[in-house]
Amino acid sequence: MSGNHLFDRLLAKGAPGAIAFETPTRRYGYSDLGPETARLANVLVDLGVKPGDRVAVQVEKSAVNLLLYLATVRAGAIYLPLNTAYTLAELAYFIGDAEPSLIVCDPAALAGVAPLAGAASVETLDANGQGTLSDKAAAASDRFDTVPRGAADLAAICYTSGTTGRSKGAMLTHLALASNAETLVNLWKFTKDDVLIHSLPIYHVHGLFVATNVLLMAGGGMILQQKFDPATVLAAMPRATCLMGIPTFYTRLLAHPGLTPEAVAPMRLFISGSAPLLAQTHIDWTARTGKPILERYGMTETGMNTSNPHDGERVAGTVGFPLPDVALRIVDEQTGAEIPDGEIGVIEVKGPNVCAGYWRNAEKTTEAFRDDGFFITGDLGVRDARGYVSIVGRGKDLIITGGLNVYPKEVETEIDALPGVVESAVIGLPHADFGEAVTAVVAVGAGHGLTEATVLEALAPRLARFKQPKRVLFVADLPRNAMGKVQKARLREEHRDLYA
Ligand code: AMP
Repeated sequence: MSGNHLFDRLLAKGAPGAIAFETPTRRYGYSDLGPETARLANVLVDLGVKPGDRVAVQVEKSAVNLLLYLATVRAGAIYLPLNTAYTLAELAYFIGDAEPSLIVCDPAALAGVAPLAGAASVETLDANGQGTLSDKAAAASDRFDTVPRGAADLAAICYTSGTTGRSKGAMLTHLALASNAETLVNLWKFTKDDVLIHSLPIYHVHGLFVATNVLLMAGGGMILQQKFDPATVLAAMPRATCLMGIPTFYTRLLAHPGLTPEAVAPMRLFISGSAPLLAQTHIDWTARTGKPILERYGMTETGMNTSNPHDGERVAGTVGFPLPDVALRIVDEQTGAEIPDGEIGVIEVKGPNVCAGYWRNAEKTTEAFRDDGFFITGDLGVRDARGYVSIVGRGKDLIITGGLNVYPKEVETEIDALPGVVESAVIGLPHADFGEAVTAVVAVGAGHGLTEATVLEALAPRLARFKQPKRVLFVADLPRNAMGKVQKARLREEHRDLYA
């Protein structure tokens, strides 16, 4: 034990002979993690990275990228992953805000990144784990005195995905990451015998902390896949036991003829999160595979908050119960008072999993927390009599039309049930009379035969007049971000003049 709260816990269980993770070209045993992270940690220190410094990383997924995360924690520094899709303009904002002492980028991006770096060093790492960082690591010592870090010290800063407004850096402590992973290992019954098909990106909490931390902490293994591809996932199933995915993974696997009960036979657990899993996808998946998806809910700022049960009923369209060490309440958006089960309100959570606030942003931090320490998620939810929580949308997605509140999810559920509809997004658009007009953007399958009039006709007997869309627009696909979230802000922007 080195006294580094997170690092010690991540590597406590892995047996020396066991595989921690593998790529198509290389396997890393648990016995490799000590020396490999030591080499990288030595490079960090040589480059002047001190405990508490930020290491900003915008690179493709690779085994070395994962080792770099571990090495940063081991060196007592703060890991700062950045979505590979961010542009140089966005990168300039993150660098200015976080003031990293080291930036690691793709070799192809070096010419653009270097002028933004200021005082930071810049090293490169490509999708194959090659670059100046690896070159330096190869020449560095494989021994390193792990830097002690306490529970309250920061291990990572993750910028919120920011589908609206400026991204904020959620400050994640050693305790937040370690306790959340520990809780999930127990709840989801992960052991050293588990092998995860890891095809999520590792610049986001889902792939980085939920997937990686949980598997390492259990002493299990990971099959690292650069990107999600249904055929590649199916091909890995004979050697795997579990998959963590966003809803798109599951709809795309359902569209693949190779998804059969025989194909999933070795798998014990399918987990979904980061965006709402349509109830229909849950139902179709269970019918096809006999293995109900376990849906959970979390966010960058809090890690995981709720989960459907491992052993009990996994209810489609819900995100299950609060985790054992998370307190969850649903409150009135205006007054902040707790409201009864069955009513929609804002979800607030408190527990060791919650972030320490936003990096260098005292104002947003104060706004995000109640006086009694509860974090205001901004998600709208409802709890049923059995305690299952459902997410009904984001606070900012709420549509106010003619002074009346419309929860998009309720309208979307009705539209999604119509034959020919793949999915829908209901948004509020500026309208002279109503303030906002309820508008449906509907993704339809080939040969659907729907028209605006037939959709409206079908909704008329099912929804109050004020909830019925004023217009229905048809599209082939809804726009999504990398984590599978429908980009409602983008839809609102694209169609903002619809009623002008
Ligand atoms: P991020 O910080 O990128 O992980 O996004 C967090 C947000 O994703 C949450 O605040 C929710 O709005 C949404 N989210 C995550 N998991 C779920 C889920 N299972 N169902 C519905 N929304 C979810």
